[in-house]
Amino acid sequence: MICRQCSSGNTRVTCTEHVTPEVTKRYCRCLDCGHKYRTVERYEVAKPVPLQVYKPIGTRNGNSLITDEDVLMIRHLHQKGLSNGQIAIRYGINRSTISRIVNYKTYTNIK
Ligand SMILES: [Zn+2]
Repeated sequence: MICRQCSSGNTRVTCTEHVTPEVTKRYCRCLDCGHKYRTVERYEVAKPVPLQVYKPIGTRNGNSLITDEDVLMIRHLHQKGLSNGQIAIRYGINRSTISRIVNYKTYTNIK
């Protein structure tokens, strides 16, 4: 810090006051001329960036019991006239899940 009185660089901070997280006041003294002055520093406090949560859909969801091919086959079997119950037994998943698949309520990314 340069002295405002004599432009000497021989200065010392005698006291630092953290007013807020954004504002710091420093009380300084010049060792050459004895001038005392105060500086105010303002910081931009970075806002925390919200974490982007990657939510996999359809069969990329790790909980999925069936593959993309299964979804296509389930819809195919449904069109062939098999009941949701028959398809459910074949794949070992819930009948309501079959219903959601064939009605495009889930796995909507697979066409
Ligand atoms: Zn000075």
